[in-house]
Amino acid sequence: MSGNGNDKDTACVHAGAVAQPAALGVNTPVVTSSAFDYRADHVRYPRYHNTLNHDVVAARVAALESAEAGLITASGMGAISAVFLGLMRPGDHAILLDGIYGGTIDLVSGLLEPLGMRFSTWDGVPDSLPGLIEERTRLVHVESPTNPLMDVVDLRAVAQVARASGLISVVDNTFATPLLQRPVEIGFDLVVHSGTKYLAGHSDLLCGAIVGRAELIARVRPTVIRLGSSLNGRELSLLERSIATLAVRVERQSANAGVLARLLQSHGSVEAVHYPGLADHPDHAVAARQMSDFGAMLSFRLADSIDPDRFLDDLKLVRPAVSLGGVESTICQPSRTSHAKVGAEIRQRLGIDDRLMRLSVGIEAADDLWRDLDQALAGD
Ligand SMILES: *Cc1c(COP(=O)(O)O)cnc(C)c1O
Repeated sequence: MSGNGNDKDTACVHAGAVAQPAALGVNTPVVTSSAFDYRADHVRYPRYHNTLNHDVVAARVAALESAEAGLITASGMGAISAVFLGLMRPGDHAILLDGIYGGTIDLVSGLLEPLGMRFSTWDGVPDSLPGLIEERTRLVHVESPTNPLMDVVDLRAVAQVARASGLISVVDNTFATPLLQRPVEIGFDLVVHSGTKYLAGHSDLLCGAIVGRAELIARVRPTVIRLGSSLNGRELSLLERSIATLAVRVERQSANAGVLARLLQSHGSVEAVHYPGLADHPDHAVAARQMSDFGAMLSFRLADSIDPDRFLDDLKLVRPAVSLGGVESTICQPSRTSHAKVGAEIRQRLGIDDRLMRLSVGIEAADDLWRDLDQALAGD
């Protein structure tokens, strides 16, 4: 498990950092300019992703993911949209894992399909993936674990099928973070992130990242620039500061999540707990193989006897809020947030109703978190 000689612990603090002259101290200077002398070797401009802070933060995230190159974008959707728009043309086809992030599904139906790109949905069973490949299939996009039921997909199998068929493999690694899962090391071509979540980690920054093979990053780069998906030096500096503590945050958050998952599972007012670290999770074996710990996201279903609104009102420490990955624990109902726009039949099939709670576990003391959940479950 993490914490014992994981080289990424050190990498979070140092990898990709540039040596500074003594007068500038140990941190990367914040370059605030949007105007640069054009007579230099090349034209610098923040939207071109070529200022000092862009270079350093992209190199840091790439190093954490064991990737050759990277780009930091203005949001997670900025990263995901640039990958599809940069690597596909009208008429091209891509395969999407079922149950991926709602914003990605909305990008596909609201923009990419109207532009003439075509998509198939994959159920996550490795044997059924090759059958979905067509002549113009360009890429396969997956996510693991997924939101909110924490399904885990066999990433090695996806990378192998993609490699053998000449497809570009892309994985959204937001939930696992590079601390717990490094898809590039098992053959993925590109990794995308909503940096808004764990990379930034304090619920105060919107950002994204694309890292992977240098040749593909070079192909996506013009699209990122055309779309205008760029951060300024101040925000990049905040992101760099957050990345320094990624390892300690995720290690504590995952340990807390493991404790809470087991306590919730043994509580009489909880019907089901979805956490890949639990031995009875259907994908536990795959998760144990490809992740170094099971992450800090989990979901659980309240028993019929518990009124979900009353439960949320009674929480004193855990805060009802959308988004995830912050140092503070937050909870939400996917039925009213991430899956509010998904059809009622699909929600019912997946078991996503108002009694399903998605918990993003923070760095607080596990005892305090449990006491809060336990008193809200007890009600009065
Ligand atoms: C939040 C999220 C996104 C979108 O990221 P933004 O930073 O909100 O644009 C993409 N994928 C996953 C898994 C997410 O949780």
